[in-house]
Amino acid sequence: MAVPFYDHHKLYLRRKTEIDAAIARVIASGRLDWGPEVPAFEAEFAALNGAAHAVTANSGTAALKIALLALGLGPGDEVITVSNTDIGCSSAIRFTGADVVWVDIEPVSRTIEVAAIAAAITPRTRAIMAVDMFGHPADIPAIMALAQAHGLVVIEDACLALGATIGGTTVGSLSTVTCFSFAPSKHLGSYGSGGCALTQDANLAETMRKIAAYGQERIRHYGMHTGALDTGLWHETEGLNERLDEIQAAILRARMVDLAPNLATRRAQAQRYATELAGLGLDLPQTLPGYEHAWRNYVIETDDRDGLRQRLSARGIPTNLSYAPPMHVQPVYRPLGIAEGSLPATERSCARLLGLPIGPQIDPDQQTEIISAIRACV
Ligand SMILES: *Cc1c(COP(=O)(O)O)cnc(C)c1O
Repeated sequence: MAVPFYDHHKLYLRRKTEIDAAIARVIASGRLDWGPEVPAFEAEFAALNGAAHAVTANSGTAALKIALLALGLGPGDEVITVSNTDIGCSSAIRFTGADVVWVDIEPVSRTIEVAAIAAAITPRTRAIMAVDMFGHPADIPAIMALAQAHGLVVIEDACLALGATIGGTTVGSLSTVTCFSFAPSKHLGSYGSGGCALTQDANLAETMRKIAAYGQERIRHYGMHTGALDTGLWHETEGLNERLDEIQAAILRARMVDLAPNLATRRAQAQRYATELAGLGLDLPQTLPGYEHAWRNYVIETDDRDGLRQRLSARGIPTNLSYAPPMHVQPVYRPLGIAEGSLPATERSCARLLGLPIGPQIDPDQQTEIISAIRACV
């Protein structure tokens, strides 16, 4: 039996009728742009995560970008973040002209170490970008307290953590802005690309919405499109074109009903790995007290990472290396001159990590096969 790491077609077939109907509904409406699906999805997604406002974007990276721009980040500013993450974090920060300041992680949660943030704050620091790594939330309450004490804003990258909780509260309302990705392999996958920024601040939401849509108020686009209220062009700022489109919004709405059962599946699979891979000498992922993990990734660590990966591959078991090597050693950032060895916990984790298949695309039989292969290969 071949085990896939992801299987988008299998998940499509489980909800084919609704997804096909959603796509057909948008095309039949003729409203391919500036229609009702994006605002409806935004309202549903905000409610789902306990946030007051949702602003969609055309990727998780775009959501991070519009958040940073709306918060006024730019040249001369510093943003403190982690290196064990998607390049979307550092590229969004540098897109604004701000500088990235990488600090080390707390090794159990593999999220930003609060003491390391405090030590890295300078007069130029404006923001902290915390990443909920693999679905384990960062210590957002402590980070928000630190930020408030220093007049900083907090952008939480929850692209891997949809449905995770901190002290019983779903991530999405705890930071200045919380960003999500709807890349196909994330918890809520579009059939292309998508993202969203959540905030409790109405003014910030309106600014992000404008930046994502040519710098204009959304109502002007709707007016032009429907003919109901043609107010003409009125550009006060330039903005970007980083919008979610109507078809993706309709697909995401159709797929949202599967989120809760899929999260339950991920949690059950993680529990099963924890039980059945115990005692093999592997470092299994742990959840710190007070958090509920969203398990976008089940990432073990072992000194024999490359050997184990090779032996599993020979048995048809795929694994992955997200997110490694860390950003500060990537070729693109070599000119910044950050020495290897400067972030020891990050580098140790990235050198030892191995992602196992997890998610609703994996059936119990396939997980059995993965577990027996691991038992045979360690
Ligand atoms: C997926 C991801 C992103 C980027 O999202 P895209 O939709 O691919 O642009 C950013 N940060 C993290 C942690 C991610 O997992």
